[in-house]
Parts: sequence; structure tokens; C-alpha cells
Amino acid sequence: MNNQKFDIAYRRKLLYKRKRRRQVLFRLSILLTGFGLIFLILLLNKEPPINKKIISTSSDNKIIVCIDPGHGDWDTGAKSNSGDFEKDIVLNVSLKLGKLLEEEGIKVVYTRTNDSLPWLETANDSLKERIKIPEIFKADIFISIHCNSNYEDTNVKGTETWYKANDENSKALASSLQNSIINLNYSSDRGIKTYGNKEDALAVLELNESISALIELGFLSNTSDEKYLKSTKGQEASAKAIKEGILNYINSYKDTILKERSNKDVKNIPITSTLKLFY
Ligand SMILES: [Zn+2]
Repeated sequence: MNNQKFDIAYRRKLLYKRKRRRQVLFRLSILLTGFGLIFLILLLNKEPPINKKIISTSSDNKIIVCIDPGHGDWDTGAKSNSGDFEKDIVLNVSLKLGKLLEEEGIKVVYTRTNDSLPWLETANDSLKERIKIPEIFKADIFISIHCNSNYEDTNVKGTETWYKANDENSKALASSLQNSIINLNYSSDRGIKTYGNKEDALAVLELNESISALIELGFLSNTSDEKYLKSTKGQEASAKAIKEGILNYINSYKDTILKERSNKDVKNIPITSTLKLFY
């Protein structure tokens, strides 16, 4: 028999030990919860994934251009008669354009640099992420590059450039781009266009805080536009023409661009689900 069980001093000692153990466990759990919370905060503050090319925003006066090759991944965009996808053609033109702009000392950011859209599961997420990229990098100019199609009338062809409604900066940029591209003379001039009401608005323009324009290089449903836009020569020439359109705009409106840059932080444009992501 062990009488220690009934010994008060021993029981007190035992209780004290248990109390100490509880205190240590309690402190340990507080510490772990703290670490967990810090980890969670760091995780939530992480920026969205962006393809390969990332630049840091800087306080110098270098112009930052965000190039948006339309579509990507499962979203092929228009399809040509011979089975080529818009997403591939516009990516080629975009990467060539980026190189040319960098040679001119312009900082370039892309919404994608390959066929993947690492951030998205749905089109709505894509919308938000696509717009976030120029916002995160404080891009001064945003150029979305697309190709058109019209299989009801395959004779329809030509280049058109879209601008943000009621935005003179966007309109001037679109004019400069359109003029430069039509000088290539590979197709007809469909002019610059904008949407009449918010329901028809193009999200990449309407929600964009950068001075933005969306180019439709030509119709993949039209044999002659398709042939030109598929060729390396056509893609190189298009990239060069877009570069020149951007440079002409920058040269004429540098003060406006820098003024817009300083205004950016005060704007707050709500995202609505009624806007079209692509055209
Ligand atoms: Zn498109």
C-alpha cells in the first residue's frame, strides 16, 4: 500500500506541477497562434501570380507600358480558317512589341508572356486579375491586342482600335495606334471606336486606370487578313507599327501622361459583372 496518495503535501506538489504544465502549454499555444496569424497575414498580402516578366515600379519619369495579349490558355479567342488561334497570334505580336519598346527605354509589363493564365479558374477572375496587373505596376499606358472574326461575312476585314468612352487620353492613344497600323496598308481602315453605354463597355478599357486602348489587328475569318497576321513578317510589322503609335503618343502627350500618373491614387473604379472582358 502506498500512503503517499493521501499525503496533503504530496498532493499540493502534484497540483502545482499540473498547474505549471497547463501554464507552459497555454503560453506555447499563444505563441503558436501568433506565428500562425503572422504567416496568414503574409500569405494574404502576397500579390497575384504574374507570368515571368516582372518589373519594379519606380519613381523616375520612364514611361511604363502594360501589354495585354488578349485571351490565353483555354480561352483561344477567334479561330482562323486554317485553325490558328487569336491567342497565339496576339502573343507573338505582343512579345515582339515588348522587345521593341524596351529598346526605346520604355519599361514593359505583360499580362501574360506565354499561353498560361496562372491566376484564373473563371472568366470573372481573369477580368479582375488582368486589370490588376497594370494597377499593381502603375502602368501609364495599357495596350490590349486582339484579332477579330466574322464568319457570317468572311469578306469583312480591316483594323480598328477601341478607346475608353468619354476619355480624351484614351481616344488620342487609339488614334495614334490606328494611324500607325493602317500605314502598313495590309488591310482596310475601320477607324477608332468606342462603346455607347456601360453595358457594352469593354472591361479592359472601362476599368483601367492606365491610359488604355484595344487594337483589333484584323479579321482571322478573312483570308487576306489571316495570311498577313499569321506570317512572321506581318507580326513583326504590326509590332513595329504599334510601337511607333505608342511612341508618337508619348512624344505628343508626355506631360498628360505624367499628370495622369500623379492622379492615379485618388481614382476608385468599381468592378461590375456586366462588363465584357474580351472583344
Ligand atoms: Zn479577342
